[in-house]
Amino acid sequence: MNDYRIDTKCVQAGYRPGNGEPRQIPIIQSTTFKYDTSEDMGKLFDLEAEGYFYSRLQNPTNDYVAAKIAALEGGSAAMLTSSGQAANFFALFNICECGSHIVSSSSIYGGTFNLLSVTMAKMGIQVTFVSPDCTEQELDAAFQENTRAVFGETIANPALTVLDIEKFAQAAHRHGVPLIVDNTFPTPVNCRPIEWGADIVTHSTTKYMDGHGAAVGGAVVDSGRFDWMAHKEKFPGLCTPDESYHGIIYAEKFGMGGAFITKCTSQLMRDLGCVQSPQSAFLLNLGLESLHVRMARHVENGQAVAEFLQSHPKVAYVNYSGLPESPYYERAKKYLPQGGCGVVSFELKGGRAAAEVFMEHLKLAAIETHVADARTCCLNPATSTHRQMNEEQLAAAGVPAGLVRTSCGLEDKADLIADLAQALEAI
Ligand SMILES: *Cc1c(COP(=O)(O)O)cnc(C)c1O
Repeated sequence: MNDYRIDTKCVQAGYRPGNGEPRQIPIIQSTTFKYDTSEDMGKLFDLEAEGYFYSRLQNPTNDYVAAKIAALEGGSAAMLTSSGQAANFFALFNICECGSHIVSSSSIYGGTFNLLSVTMAKMGIQVTFVSPDCTEQELDAAFQENTRAVFGETIANPALTVLDIEKFAQAAHRHGVPLIVDNTFPTPVNCRPIEWGADIVTHSTTKYMDGHGAAVGGAVVDSGRFDWMAHKEKFPGLCTPDESYHGIIYAEKFGMGGAFITKCTSQLMRDLGCVQSPQSAFLLNLGLESLHVRMARHVENGQAVAEFLQSHPKVAYVNYSGLPESPYYERAKKYLPQGGCGVVSFELKGGRAAAEVFMEHLKLAAIETHVADARTCCLNPATSTHRQMNEEQLAAAGVPAGLVRTSCGLEDKADLIADLAQALEAI
């Protein structure tokens, strides 16, 4: 399947039915699997044979879909998780432990920011945030002896900054650690971070991959290119015996291509259990089958809406990397030549009061905290997700009270623009 183009992989990678088998991925709705002898099952527990024994660790439906996502990203292996939050936690915690340190772009999803700065801090894992636009020197200065990973988002949610993936990858590699990139917003259709040097890619499949607002989920993809053994002292979990698995050394037994995901499945999924249900994996695959068709339309609508807003007298500014006015325009041309995504944010000149009137008058775009599905939605963070903050705190967080985030769906762009125009008119 690897020789095919990405559109073909969206439709067909991951699952190749045999003679007389179901054409569509079967939903294996079974918690457990039956064996003839204890010996047969024992081999699975020892990781000596491939197969399934309990759906908390692995399930065939999930594995078909994970294999498709691995193929789309150009990775060596992948796994599904119950959510994007779980994917980012697993990707980091698979190589970090109490006493480790992470370098992260400061421009990331709020949930991930909390995960890193609050919850992982309680586990004794420290983080240093750097601007996604920092210089190479500033980036180098953020590393410590105990740094184990670098983290960033290709297109950040909600700030819509674009990560200089090559720069972050080179810095990570200079310091002997992997770069983990959350590629949720562009999806592999618009950017494949591994091609730019990223080592691990994560997804909230809840967004464009599912694409229909139907199932919460996540994925972790390993490039198979990071040489754990070359930095053995930093990654004892991968490079020294795992006593909970009969002394297996993951990096030796499964090599660069398999060690990361095998450890992540057999330790973290076993112990933390953030598994995706086979039903959700099936729905996710339906989304993936049309991802390449949908992304082009999300981008087309996002670009048209951004251009409309950019020229509107009641709009102060627009964030969208497809606009020549955007500070990320050049970087986006390099990393996102086919466009980024359908999410656009803009500030209304009239501030909070204008935003309230605008939101009230929307007819087609729904008010939701969600982004990145087929139906257009809008959010005013100051009156919803960020409502505990006062005006000054909002400004400091880069979320002024008049900011509106629009996730352009798959509707006709003329209808979307007409809806926004009439709501702007009402201000
Ligand atoms: C939504 C989102 C997440 C979290 O994913 P969930 O599926 O909601 O847990 C992580 N990263 C990014 C970039 C997101 O947009």
